[in-house]
Amino acid sequence: MAKLRKEDLQTPVSTWREKDMINSEKVDAFVIILRTTGCWWAHKKGCTMCGYNTVSAPVTEEDLRVQLSKALEKYSNEKMVKIYTSGSFLDDKEIPGAVRKDIFQMFAPAQRILFESRPEFVTEENLASVVKERSAVAIGLESANDEILRKCIRKGFTVGDYEQAARVLNKLNIPLRTYLLLKPPYLTERAAIEDAKASVKYAAQFSESVSVNPVNVQRSTLVESLWSRGSYAPPMIWSLIEVLKDGSGKEGCRLLSSPSGGGAARGVHNCGKCDKALLSAVEKFSYSQDPAEFEKVDCECRGEWQALLELQDLMFTSVDVKKHVSENIVE
Ligand code: SF4
Ligand SMILES: [Zn+2]
Repeated sequence: MAKLRKEDLQTPVSTWREKDMINSEKVDAFVIILRTTGCWWAHKKGCTMCGYNTVSAPVTEEDLRVQLSKALEKYSNEKMVKIYTSGSFLDDKEIPGAVRKDIFQMFAPAQRILFESRPEFVTEENLASVVKERSAVAIGLESANDEILRKCIRKGFTVGDYEQAARVLNKLNIPLRTYLLLKPPYLTERAAIEDAKASVKYAAQFSESVSVNPVNVQRSTLVESLWSRGSYAPPMIWSLIEVLKDGSGKEGCRLLSSPSGGGAARGVHNCGKCDKALLSAVEKFSYSQDPAEFEKVDCECRGEWQALLELQDLMFTSVDVKKHVSENIVE
């Protein structure tokens, strides 16, 4: 946990504006990242790709309230407010119930307040502290496969735990956004695509929206140590598109992706020439839901992607084949 000055403990990690959707309306969203004591699981073992622990600190309830009042000064009555804690909004140790209640009053103009939580905190009791009609909850399921959750992601909960939380939200009519991880470590590119496709199908049953999040290699994580020695490569944008195309057209569930680090070495990327155009198609698809967005761009690296899928299958490996092959070629 970071050691910070009082001033930093009383300042949100970040705030910004972006677009999102409420039902079928595109709206302005105000995003706040609050500094809290952080995710309890990150302090214990943590997920293999998660570096959020680095922004958490021993904040008090008073610090939190000062952070919120600073965020409020920047709020311009956007219809949607997203409050992230790099952990669980519904964990009393991160955000006490009384603060949760006050947040709904402070941001009264917001029709919808979206927050994230691990499933163990998504209970009717904890949800008594929020205004249900104005809430939406995001849960990072990552994969609908228990073995992948345990061995590749070290998620610390099961698909059954997610489903229980999803049913509580469905019963209370609180919209659920499910995050899925594209390409956890130790999976080949093709296995990662198949896992994400199956996970979209599963999560769509319970979710108003499903967000496919390609791995972005964060600092001080297991994924980073694998990546730095060539044992892991982030997915290609073609893989993300394959997952989005396959999952499109689910009635009542919007499929989206807003990759952090997209186009960079640590994030989902292609050859560099087509990244921008394809990521823009991903963004457009996230609103239109029309897979035709992806037919407008092509690139020769599509062939390299197909070769990668086959090569990894033949070699039975999930390592960064491109890196190893180029390092070992003697011209
Ligand atoms: S990914 Fe989420 S659940 Fe996992 S350690 Fe990070 S904050 Fe906690
Ligand atoms: Zn390309």
